[in-house]
Amino acid sequence: MKLGEDNKRLMLIGGELTASQTGEWLPSINPATEEVIGYTPAAAASDVDAAAKAATQAWPAWNALGVEARGEALREVARQLKARSDEILAVEVADTGNTISALKGDVDAAVWSLNHYAGLGYELKGETIPATPGNLHLTVREPFGVVGRIVPFNHPIMFAAARTAAALMAGNAVVVKPPETSPLSATIFAEICQQVLPPGVMNVVTGLGRDAGDAIARHPDIKRIAFIGSPGTARQIQKSAADVCVKHISLELGGKNPMIVFPDADLERAKDAAVRGMNFAWQGQSCGSTSRLLVHDSLYDEFVESVVARVRQIRLGNPALETSTMGPINSKAQYDKVCNYVEVAKADGARLVHGGRRPEGAGFQRGYWLEPTVFADVTSQMRIAQEEVFGPILSIMRWSDAKQALDIANSVEYGLTASIWTADIGTAMQTARQVRSGYIWINGVGTHFRGVPFGGYKNSGVGREESLDEMLSYTETKVINIML
Ligand code: NAD
Repeated sequence: MKLGEDNKRLMLIGGELTASQTGEWLPSINPATEEVIGYTPAAAASDVDAAAKAATQAWPAWNALGVEARGEALREVARQLKARSDEILAVEVADTGNTISALKGDVDAAVWSLNHYAGLGYELKGETIPATPGNLHLTVREPFGVVGRIVPFNHPIMFAAARTAAALMAGNAVVVKPPETSPLSATIFAEICQQVLPPGVMNVVTGLGRDAGDAIARHPDIKRIAFIGSPGTARQIQKSAADVCVKHISLELGGKNPMIVFPDADLERAKDAAVRGMNFAWQGQSCGSTSRLLVHDSLYDEFVESVVARVRQIRLGNPALETSTMGPINSKAQYDKVCNYVEVAKADGARLVHGGRRPEGAGFQRGYWLEPTVFADVTSQMRIAQEEVFGPILSIMRWSDAKQALDIANSVEYGLTASIWTADIGTAMQTARQVRSGYIWINGVGTHFRGVPFGGYKNSGVGREESLDEMLSYTETKVINIML
């Protein structure tokens, strides 16, 4: 793909690569330079309707192919994705601002996930239940038909590819809507799917959330929606869907995740983890970022100093270079939101100990650049401790007894991940069980382990993904009673 003003990309609807019916286009901006690098169609409700109709027509035959043939098709998508990985990476770096070293993991994860679900077909099995003697009571799993997938900007290719594989493997056709600020890589995925999958099985519909996204939420033939994004949008989707009919909606949402450091922890590892867990290579734009660092009183001052020393080592720069360990924030809107949180935190009394400004130097005059930022002496009442920033801002908080640490950890409306650092297995397990979050690391941080269910408590979500649970969530259970 040649990036620039002439780069007009297409969606995939019913097996055809196409512009939108409105003829309107959305620009993609490189957040490192603010240059236009391409355009994608601004889909309207009529495009979503065409995609939903194509998917409705396509899924019965796709399902009837059986698990072996569907699995082989997914493996071929994976092969082609891998074959185009250099092109995808170049596009994704320019479109998202995420560093190339971090993004390599995304393409690998997409390939792995397609292959993983390709091999899970035989798990689409049912049960027999001994409800009455002499008869057969059995369950079978059936696809919903059409699944609507709406995904955010931080991992566009991974979400388009990895997070549609399970729905396809379960026998559904998919309508996926990539994020409007970083949609380009998904159009490569669309080209691959056009080559490999029967028409209508995968539909890639680009456009704005309020138009294409809302049209997916409202489409009466899309009975199952899988959303990744913010809680505000999630609630809007639930409302729009409820206006039309009853839908199955799973939600992978944001986090305000605590990392709790006990005095007996391996402190050097914990300090490294505090920085790694913030995912600065994604500018902190990761749902699982441990953006609240809860440090015991006895360690506090030295810990803050050591964390800041590590943050100073972050190499902000052109995200296409392997040497850069942090890039620009994804979009102007996200940049403004994050910068505003710097001011809010200062006004609320948090102590700025690093960053909080546009970096100096020739490469940073244009683009959405912010230094990695650390606030100390953050308290639970402050907005910076309560609200998801989704940017490179770490808040450090102090606690003096374990109950207080737990209270702080649980004081937010989110419950996605938590990281606990201690040498005592009893403390670790007690804390793990009492933190109201869906994904806990003990003496670890950041990693999504393959095949392990990921998802949140509270406003962080509904349902679990990245696992067998995800594939089964794209099926309905039918009971058949055979009276012998
Ligand atoms: P967002 O909610 O603004 O947008 C997500 C997607 O929803 C985009 O494709 C957008 O176009 C679409 N959308 C927007 N309005 C819509 C509407 N009214 N109806 C239907 N669709 C609509 O989120 P974002 O800013 O792109 O991403 C950041 C959020 O995503 C953060 O909260 C982050 O924590 C969350 N996230 C969660 C996970 C997870 O696995 N839990 C992973 C990544 C990101």
